[in-house]
Amino acid sequence: MVLDTATLRVAFAVMALVLGLLFYFSVYRSTRSAYSAWWCFALIMFLAGSASLLLEGTPLQWLAIPAGHGLLVAGASSVWAAARSLRTSMPRPWLLLAGPVITAFASCLENPAGNTWSGGAVFLASMSVVIGLAAHELWHLEPGYSKIRMPMAMAAGSLSLFYFLRLIVYLVEGPYGPNFQAYFGSALTTCITMVLLVVASFSMAALSTEQQTRALRTFATRDGLTGLLNRGGFLDLAEAELLRLQRTRAPGTLLLADLDHFKAINDTHGHAAGDRALQAFAKACTQTVRSSDLVARYGGEEFVLLLPGVSPYRGESVATDISRRMDAASADLGIQMPTVSYGLAAVDDDTEGLEELIAAADAALYRAKSLGRNRTVRYARSTKPGPREPDPSRPER
Ligand code: GH3
Ligand code: MG
Ligand code: MG
Repeated sequence: MVLDTATLRVAFAVMALVLGLLFYFSVYRSTRSAYSAWWCFALIMFLAGSASLLLEGTPLQWLAIPAGHGLLVAGASSVWAAARSLRTSMPRPWLLLAGPVITAFASCLENPAGNTWSGGAVFLASMSVVIGLAAHELWHLEPGYSKIRMPMAMAAGSLSLFYFLRLIVYLVEGPYGPNFQAYFGSALTTCITMVLLVVASFSMAALSTEQQTRALRTFATRDGLTGLLNRGGFLDLAEAELLRLQRTRAPGTLLLADLDHFKAINDTHGHAAGDRALQAFAKACTQTVRSSDLVARYGGEEFVLLLPGVSPYRGESVATDISRRMDAASADLGIQMPTVSYGLAAVDDDTEGLEELIAAADAALYRAKSLGRNRTVRYARSTKPGPREPDPSRPER
């Protein structure tokens, strides 16, 4: 049976169109993710590329071959950009354009009016490289991302390998050699690409949903004003971290911080200035601690930090550094930043659980307030809450 390349190209173009429309309306319009936008663009490029190659054998062939090959490589580059948008930032625009432009240019140099395979070697090499890059991106997505990440990476890797083998056979025997015609010709390639496009679109839809779910999850665990973790997000992560510290018998420190006389800032300078002070404190915290430490806005003007591997002694100097940075922010913001009181509780062999650890830091914090504020008090079994009245805005624990 001989597969007719022109018919397959029409089928491929129609399929890319239908997939593109379905993807645009069902995924892109609801998620607006960078990933789905690139995938839609890739499908349009594949559609345009195969439509262009249909003009093979017509008086427009001189334009159709360079444009068709260039557009197909542009589609592959968009797949690479889509995969990359899941992991890091965009590749540089010139990197995305390099493949298509070089491919079209190489085709122009080999008499495209009379040679349907003009620039074929560059086309096959570009496809192999760009699809290989997409496979690389998918492979290096963080492991928790999705179960379909591996099959997608392997599908892209196999397609890249297929184009590489096509390139080798093309170079050895040319486009009309028996092996190239039988195993690596345009008809078979179109069939394989069709199947992979359907599989990839299906997987992409799932990945886009996952990307959106992750964004929502981040939204649910972050504090809108400071960008720090919120209480719920902190408790979830700290619970797991504390278990790990207890299992490995590693030290750790929990700090509960409360801005002193914060209400006075609101009363004197307005609520917006109060908000800026909260943001300044959040920044002072994140600039001081390591990225592996947990920092959260516990509520109102109260913050909590869990510092794994940090001794209480070192924890005290972390608190001092944060307060120093907070004080330095006064000049930038034009108002004197409030001082800060800290309650410190050590993670040690006696630590029962997170709730007890926070309660211990809380008792130490009350003590710091009653001793005159602007200080760090470390919890000791004898630590008694000071005489200060309990704050009604603080939920019961
Ligand atoms: P203390 O030294 O005893 O901690 O006194 P304080 O004034 O800091 O504590 P108090 O609990 O009396 O006041 C906390 C204030 O924090 C009251 C509340 O209006 C303010 N606050 C809570 N959340 C926000 C917020 O998101 N933005 C602003 N601007 N103020 C907030
Ligand atoms: Mg306060
Ligand atoms: Mg408070």
